[in-house]
Amino acid sequence: MSQISTPHRTRRAHRQPLCEQSNKRRYRDGKDARLALRAAARLRSKAAVADVECGWVVTRAYRCEDCQGWHVTSSPARRLPVAA
Ligand SMILES: [Zn+2]
Repeated sequence: MSQISTPHRTRRAHRQPLCEQSNKRRYRDGKDARLALRAAARLRSKAAVADVECGWVVTRAYRCEDCQGWHVTSSPARRLPVAA
């Protein structure tokens, strides 16, 4: 029986850069997420001018219930509850 050795993971409880649920980049708050959206939009328009494709397509920021952080996504709202 072979066992895969798990490498030591030095992970701090806080300050995770990635969400464990979605594996997405986490943003501290809505402002950070919106800044990322703006940066992405700028890159996109630059790419459009240069006639190249921009891989960073994000259109929306949302709060993640799993990591209490914020993420940006290109997909439209699906089953996410509308914030009351
Ligand atoms: Zn998350």
